[in-house]
Amino acid sequence: MAKRDYYEALGVAKTATEDDIKKAYRKMAMKYHPDRNQGEGAKKAEEQFKEVKEAYEMLSDAQKRAAYDQYGHAGVDPNMGGRGGPGAEGFGGFAEAFGDIFGDIFNGGAGGGRRGGGQQVYRGNDLSYAMEITLEEAARGKESQIRIPSWEGCETCGGSGAKPGTSAKSCGSCNGSGTVHMRQGFFSVQQTCPHCHGTGKIIPDPCTACNGQGKVKKSKTLEVKIPAGINEGMRIRSAGNGEPGVNGGPAGDLYIEIRIKQHDIFERDGDDLHCTMPVGLTTATLGGSIEVPTLGGKAEIELPEGTQHGKTFRLRGKGIKGVRSSYPGDLYCHISVETPVKLTEHQRKLMKELDKSFRDGGERHSPNAKSWTDRVKDIFK
Ligand SMILES: [Zn+2]
Ligand SMILES: [Zn+2]
Repeated sequence: MAKRDYYEALGVAKTATEDDIKKAYRKMAMKYHPDRNQGEGAKKAEEQFKEVKEAYEMLSDAQKRAAYDQYGHAGVDPNMGGRGGPGAEGFGGFAEAFGDIFGDIFNGGAGGGRRGGGQQVYRGNDLSYAMEITLEEAARGKESQIRIPSWEGCETCGGSGAKPGTSAKSCGSCNGSGTVHMRQGFFSVQQTCPHCHGTGKIIPDPCTACNGQGKVKKSKTLEVKIPAGINEGMRIRSAGNGEPGVNGGPAGDLYIEIRIKQHDIFERDGDDLHCTMPVGLTTATLGGSIEVPTLGGKAEIELPEGTQHGKTFRLRGKGIKGVRSSYPGDLYCHISVETPVKLTEHQRKLMKELDKSFRDGGERHSPNAKSWTDRVKDIFK
């Protein structure tokens, strides 16, 4: 069978630009791709797909195109230097022309894509790192150094994974492509080769230093900038600091997950802070100023006479300015009135005198008790 002209196969003129050729190839490849042509005509489509792919590989390479223009098919040998080579199920050029979006669709793998050589490439796994910081550090922000795992090429085997003096072999199950096609009825499913796990290689004699991985786990120091206002459970992404990819795929990301240590005084609720302030009985009764702690120092609250237990005072802007907030939250001070303990005889005597005086004065000294007895009276009316 006479070989069709490459330009004709792609449906472009001899004067077509690089861009024209790429566009034409995309169109044709979409039309004839084996994943889109099932059942009747699948065989023909596959033939056409191969033809189109070959034409594209030749014409997209300036040097090969020049040779082809001058000598025709005799000037170029598709089996020389092309990716895939004879026998290989190389659809590699396809995904390459389309980029990762289409590559993902046709490879079906999470994050999988194809690169030259026809091997499946994978993005590395993401890593997670839990970092515990104090509430003060969360409020102010922090620069910190952490040790994270890193991987380096194995020195013993030079990264090949094979014992020195031996070498990796192309995987027989997938012809080194890293993927296998499974026909299921009308569907052709492309799967990661179970024998070589997508690497396209089998290592008969693995390097003992890296267990055939070609890389060894080390650790490195990473500078981390914790933004001011960060909250519990938030994550900071450090791109590319996760596990390395497979077959030259991109590395995963590192996620630093923030844990905030419990604070002795403050409890955080979003951008607001809460604290409980113990106040003596006399101060609560007579009123007076009390000193309250804030994250940035100290503040004063003026307690009015007759402050009740459980009363809350709000200090505006003394909370935390969240990562995405434009102004800081508030600090809520909850007053806890303390009942005096371990009284001396004298104090006990004074309390009794005070008690008698209060009783003589009637319910007006006890606002809560008064409303409470009123409510009880209402029930038994
Ligand atoms: Zn090694
Ligand atoms: Zn394989």
